[in-house]
Amino acid sequence: MKETITVHRKLEAPPSPFHCHDYPRLIRRWRKVARAAGLKMSAFAQAGGYEVFMLSSRQSPEGGVYLSAGIHGDEPAATEGLICWAEAHPDLLRREPCLIFPCLNPWGLVHNSRTDAQGQDLNRTFQHDHVPHIQALKMFLKPHRFSLALNLHEDYDGHGLYIYELERRAPFWGEELVEIARPLIPIEGRTMIDNRRASKAGLVRRKINVNKFPAIPEAVYLHLHHAERTFTFETPSEFALEQRVRVQVALINACLQRIAR
Ligand SMILES: [Zn+2]
Repeated sequence: MKETITVHRKLEAPPSPFHCHDYPRLIRRWRKVARAAGLKMSAFAQAGGYEVFMLSSRQSPEGGVYLSAGIHGDEPAATEGLICWAEAHPDLLRREPCLIFPCLNPWGLVHNSRTDAQGQDLNRTFQHDHVPHIQALKMFLKPHRFSLALNLHEDYDGHGLYIYELERRAPFWGEELVEIARPLIPIEGRTMIDNRRASKAGLVRRKINVNKFPAIPEAVYLHLHHAERTFTFETPSEFALEQRVRVQVALINACLQRIAR
């Protein structure tokens, strides 16, 4: 009997696939985090009929961390992983200067779509100013430099976890981050990922040549203008949601513990 109860609890605990596209519920959870961590939370724009939110420290986020998820709406372990991590670490969020975008494409999250309501891939629009909420985000960023920027994603072609590390200066973190994920999920075995050669299994570390990016993703924009270290985590979206969320949480945590004051 006891065992049955344990199993039942275990089944209740994982993030439900029926909840992970529920944007109002996600925002309610972030409001609780904002209260627990003493963060300011505000709707800074409208997109596709939804309010888009940001959270920031009461002090300036200068020198702290930039966290962003949900620019692709069909990658729910990203938005879910970020909120799960935040719910578990209000004290760290209270101490560490931060700027957080919990979901940059709410319409996409609700409709399980990579693109926004206009069919645009928002993660290819950072070189322009034609998407109002991306332009607004860039205005917020303008005065700030972050020691770390994390962009959370998933890959429906992924055979395992992989990480992009935008190369600026050693020591690099990529190899250790891959090792943190290894006990939790298979590591991507492909040597070519998105037409880029992986430096090692599960790791694409690269220097950025702006001329090769006619369409600038969020991570590249952060790297070029605002962040000392920039990572993109890609969990394989055909794997179980609970497993993907656990990996995102572990990687966010590993990075934050490294810079935590
Ligand atoms: Zn993505």
